[in-house]
Parts: sequence; structure tokens; C-alpha cells
Amino acid sequence: MCGIIGIASNKSVTANIIQSLKRLEYRGYDSAGIATIVNGNIDEKKCTGRVDNLEKILFKNPSNGFLGIGHVRWATHGAASQINAHPHSSEEVSVVHNGIIENSDELKKNLEKKGYKFKSQTDTEVITFLLTDFLKDFNLINAINKTLEKLNGSFALGIIFKKYNDIVVGARRGSPLAVGYGPEENYLGSDSYALKSMTNKITYLDDGDVCILTNNKVEFYNSKNKKVNKEILMLSDDKNIAEKGDYKDFMSKEINEQNITAKTCIKEYVDQLRKEINLYNFPVKPEEIKKIVLIGCGTAYHSCIAAKYWFEEFTNISIEIDVASEFRYRKIKFHKKNLYVFVSQSGETADTLAALDLCKKNNMKTCSIVNVVESSIARSSDFVLPIHAGPEIGVASTKAFIGQMLVLYILSIKISEIRKDINKAEYTKKINELKNLPDLIKKTLKFQDKIQVIAKDFLKAKGAIFLGRGLSFPIALEGALKLKELSYLHAEGYPAGEMKHGPLALIEEGLPVVILAPKDRYYEKTISNMQEVIARGGKVILITNEYNNVISENVRSTLKIPNTDDHLTPFLMTVPLQLLAYHVASLKNCNIDKPRNLAKSVTVE
Ligand code: GLU
Repeated sequence: MCGIIGIASNKSVTANIIQSLKRLEYRGYDSAGIATIVNGNIDEKKCTGRVDNLEKILFKNPSNGFLGIGHVRWATHGAASQINAHPHSSEEVSVVHNGIIENSDELKKNLEKKGYKFKSQTDTEVITFLLTDFLKDFNLINAINKTLEKLNGSFALGIIFKKYNDIVVGARRGSPLAVGYGPEENYLGSDSYALKSMTNKITYLDDGDVCILTNNKVEFYNSKNKKVNKEILMLSDDKNIAEKGDYKDFMSKEINEQNITAKTCIKEYVDQLRKEINLYNFPVKPEEIKKIVLIGCGTAYHSCIAAKYWFEEFTNISIEIDVASEFRYRKIKFHKKNLYVFVSQSGETADTLAALDLCKKNNMKTCSIVNVVESSIARSSDFVLPIHAGPEIGVASTKAFIGQMLVLYILSIKISEIRKDINKAEYTKKINELKNLPDLIKKTLKFQDKIQVIAKDFLKAKGAIFLGRGLSFPIALEGALKLKELSYLHAEGYPAGEMKHGPLALIEEGLPVVILAPKDRYYEKTISNMQEVIARGGKVILITNEYNNVISENVRSTLKIPNTDDHLTPFLMTVPLQLLAYHVASLKNCNIDKPRNLAKSVTVE
């Protein structure tokens, strides 16, 4: 799940490992560690909490090896303790691992019978002892292969050895891993972002690959144990490396720059001069698509729900949406005229990647919508539509959600135009309307002060409910998710029409209920649902449009978003809900950028 770094050099690697681990902090983690070879022995140091703690330990007790591995862990097996932190070392080897070894219990029993004493509760330590055991009888490459053969599950590994003290070994099955090339040193990293401070020359490992790094050479072996050459990619210089600037945290920066996110994304896809959307090399003929299946997790899934409404409105294609963790295990009826679209901010989301792999195995046409273009999902799909949002550091997604919705919206109108489901005049009108969206988003950011006051109502609340119909329904879900993620307050999003079928029982005196009621075709119905909430003592925060004056005096607060085309309203509804979650979390002193228990890049299922 979390982060790996490895360096083989001709000088001390500790500082660079620490620096790279800090770049991996964006993923969210619970402990950190490093192992190097010092005076011919493995020197392992690890701690719970932040990489800063590890740095302090190293400051007191330096560990200056010329090669080493580092890790930030997100616990799957065993508590987030120092003993469970990676690396896991024996006398002979030291291992860092991302992912899950599914048969670790069975392997552990066998190793215990052989006399190996386990220190941790992790699934990872079996790898350490398997390797140690095989190294007694086999040479390096055979011992590695024998070990990998024994493992079920997904992994990316970084390994160093006492005996082979000039190499770092990497291996990948399922979880991503990359190699970087530097001046008289080479690197291993779980993503290219971790390596970018040292190099922009990168090779991605494919599933089943093993690599062996020294300071001046990198060798690759494929899943059949055949030595292979691999392509070196030159990544673009990351001039956009995220800095907080004057903002208190990344999240407030990311929320506040959403007008720019939208502007950049629109510029990438929309030619306002020609009134055209640029989408080339699309993997299928839109006229021939029977069904579009949209797949994501969490916030990305919410963008898929919004897209369902747009696609259904603008095209005659039937649309299905699915949560990736469900899709990947169902007995899906694939059809070659379907298009499968995968949405993921990081492009590394394990469930989404597995769902994509399943489609590829069934020879389906795939398209991905990601923020990180070097990611596994982007590289595996037939066609990639980047959202161009720049690095998103806050664990809870904000600007990437706007980007995902925007790309899906643009895709829906382009496909409908090619299929002639909408006429040229409607198409041009939609393109014109997009021009104003960034400025309208900017206007909604001005609700900041008002929302800061509204947020106080949530401090003593037991929970909160978010209601909306039509395109406001996915935004209600997203508003509730943001509040949960950031402020740890129980929140639920519902289609407003579902209230009477159960959730109404939750309404009691003072419960905050956010009603999303833009003046669209659902308006009257949503307002009736709002009255039902008010009648039962709910404290209503109404979000509607500027031209709406039918406001009940029993509404606690009202926010009026600027008027725009109904189909673009969800973008403007999103911003106040993000601000609300942000300010409730701030008042509760929560860690805004790194909410508890969550990780930015969810690379385990
Ligand atoms: N499954 C391993 C553990 O719990 C690795 C988790 C990770 O990917 O960080 O220690």
C-alpha cells in the first residue's frame, strides 16, 4: 500500500532515502524505517509515526551505508507499531514490502517448524525468512525466484543482503515499482514521484519482473526469469511540485485553486476558437458503443455517478456505474461493444487497477481518467484522459474531483456530438458555457466566511445528512464523504426522495441537514423534502441558486451559488461542501491533510 525506496550508490544514501520517503508522505502512513549495510552488517532503524521521527533517530545514531532501502508503512497485518514497521531483517537479508501476502499464515507455520523466530505480526516477515532459508542452498537469483514462487498475493519488494553488499533487489507482482537512473547511483521507488527529486530517467517494472541494482548497473529479469532490456522513459520535469505557499495546509490550497484546475483542464480539451473538443485516437467509434461502464472508488466513484446523469441526458448509450471493489469480483457479462472507463486520482488504486485488468483479460476497450499520467492505470488502459489537476497532496480529494467530473462531462458531450445525439447548436452552446465555469467556481470560493460560521453548528452534532436529487445526489454523497474524511463526523448522503424510506427516522432537534436544491426540474420536490426535515427539528443548510427567492424562514442558513446551466451546477455545489468539511475539521483541530486511517493512494484492496 505504502511507499518503498531503495538506493545503490558510491556514497552515503541515508539523506536521499529520507528525502524520498518524505515525498512519499502524501500517501498517508503509520510508521517508517530504513536499512543500510554498515561495516558489512545490516543496520535497521524504524519507528512509528512520521519520517521526522526516523530522521531524529538517525541524527542521534547515524547509519551511513552506501546502499539501502526505506519504507513508509500502512498497516494491513499487525498494529502500527515499531516492531511491525518495515524493513524486516534477519542476519542475512532486509526486506521492505508494499501489498499483502495472502498465504503468510501457512508460510509462517512452516518456517516456525524450521526454527525461525518471528518478531512481528506482519505478513512481510515470511519473505525475510524464506529468502534467508533459500540463500543457504541457492545462489542469489535462484533464492529470489524460489521465494517469489512461494508467495500468493500482491507485492512490490525492496531487498538488501549482507552477503551481496553492493546490490538492491526489487520485485513486483501487483503493486507498482519503478527504477530510476542517476549519476553513479541507481534507485528503486514505488512511484516515480518519489524518485523525481533525484532523477527523471525511469523504467517501470512489469508484473513478475525482478531487478538488480548496483551503483552503475541495472539488470531486469522477467516473470520467466529471462534477462530483458527495458525502456527508459524521460519524465517531464516536475516544475509543479506541490508547495503550500501562503496556505495553512495543502487542502485549503487545493480547494482554493479549483478555478485554475478547471481552467487548465478545459484548456487541454476545449478549443474555444473552433468551438471543438479535442479528443483524438479514441479507442472505439462512439457510434458503435452499446454501453459505457464507469468504474471508480470513493470520490472517483461519485464522479462516475454524476457522469451517468450527463451521459444519459446527452447520449442514447446505456450507462452503468460500479464500485471497483465490487465489479472486480462479480460475474460480469462483457460485451465487445462496451466501453469501460476507469476513474482514479492516483492511477494506482488497487481495486480499480484490478477491475481494469479484468476488462483487459476479456479483451474489452478501456479508457482511464487519472491525475497521475505515469501511473499503472494510465499505462494499462487503451486510452488515457488526464485531468491535469497537478499534484494533489491532501489525502481527501478535492480538486481532482472537479477535474474528474470535468473530463467526464467533456467526454459525454463529445461522444454525444459524434453520435449526433445532440445537434451542433447544442454542442456549441455547451462549449460556450464551459468558458465561464472557472470564474463561477471562483465566486463560490467566496462563501468561505459564511461557511466558517455555519461550521460551528456541526461541532456538537451527532452527525449530519446531505440530500439532493438528480445531479445534486452524487454531490450530496461527496459532501457527506468529505465531512466524514476530514472531521470524523458521521455523515450520510441520500437521494432526497429516499428520506421517507428510512433516514427520516434519524432527524431530530438540531441535526444539521444540508439540502442541495438548485432551481432545476427537481426543485419543488427537494424543497418539500426540506420542509419534512424542518418539521422534525432538523437544522437546515440550504444550497440553491441566486434566482431563487422561495426561502422558508425556518431555514437556518442559505447559500446561493451563481446561476449557470443545470448540467454545470454540480461543480458549483461541490465547493461549499468542501469548504464546510474543511472548516468543521479545522474547528475540531483534525489533521486536515492527513486524516486518520486514510491513505492517498489506496494500493491494497
Ligand atoms: N502488508 C504489509 C504490512 O502490513 C505491508 C503494508 C504496506 O503496504 O505498507 O506490514
